[in-house]
Amino acid sequence: MEGTVFNIKRYAIHDGPGIRTTVFLKGCPLWCPWCQNPEGISPVPELIWREQRCIGCRDCEDTCLTGALSFADGSLRIDRNLCDLCGQCALSCYPQALEMVGRQMTVDEVMTEVEKDTVFYEQSGGGITVSGGEPLMQADFLGAILRASKQSGIHTTLDTSGYAEQALLLRIAEYVDLFLWDLKIMDDEAHRKHTGVSNSVILDNLKAMSRLGKPTIIRFSLIPGVNDHESNIRAMGAFVTSLDDVDRIDILPYHRAWMDKYRGLIRTREPAVFEPPSAKLLKATETKLAEHGLKIRIGG
Ligand code: SF4
Ligand code: SF4
Repeated sequence: MEGTVFNIKRYAIHDGPGIRTTVFLKGCPLWCPWCQNPEGISPVPELIWREQRCIGCRDCEDTCLTGALSFADGSLRIDRNLCDLCGQCALSCYPQALEMVGRQMTVDEVMTEVEKDTVFYEQSGGGITVSGGEPLMQADFLGAILRASKQSGIHTTLDTSGYAEQALLLRIAEYVDLFLWDLKIMDDEAHRKHTGVSNSVILDNLKAMSRLGKPTIIRFSLIPGVNDHESNIRAMGAFVTSLDDVDRIDILPYHRAWMDKYRGLIRTREPAVFEPPSAKLLKATETKLAEHGLKIRIGG
């Protein structure tokens, strides 16, 4: 079985307990304008160009047999209508300004990478984390990776928005030791406005996992002007308190480090740029959530 993977990060220490290997699956049904992994939104492979890394050598032009690459005003132009995503230009680009994001991998190929660090997982209490994008978009591939990991005695974590059919999630949950669950906005209308989808499926799924007794850590990306207001924080605190087996809420401060990646992709929507939260806002949010008796951590 094959799936589309856009990154495999070894020695990850912020994606669950211990030292982990995080496998990023491509494709997401949500469209959050603050997404830190914009290259994970589209389900298909993409060619990305990072202007800051480009030294202007123009080696890439010669390798492109379809004529998709040209230079104008000192800047590379990619004609996406001519590009067939062969990836040859990226191979010729020494500074890695051009890069293919997303490639087909088999479950065995993924597991070969993951099992390289088994000794570190055993020593640190780590394992595999599958993230995205939204990994549940490739449910069969995801399930096969998690099942293979369990068969190898590797702890499994699923980092998800929770936006998927419940029957599908229940099938996958059997192989998940820990959920990292991204909660964004509690008001349904605001959730639709900012992410393009309702949050009712997400909240229902989270309740279902709670009933199953699945250990879960909530991840809350704090974005000033979007979800930092009092009513959202209070509603989130009350909802999470009503669940069983939620260990804690991790508040993830919004940052802009992803903008470079976004500019290198072709997107029909412009990214929204927000202010990162101040130390004062982080502290106030932590305090409000802690008032619900929840364990809170700032950072993942
Ligand atoms: S090969 Fe890479 S560094 Fe050279 S011009 Fe092309 S994109 Fe820029
Ligand atoms: S991926 Fe292939 S077709 Fe597309 S620009 Fe690069 S070399 Fe040309």
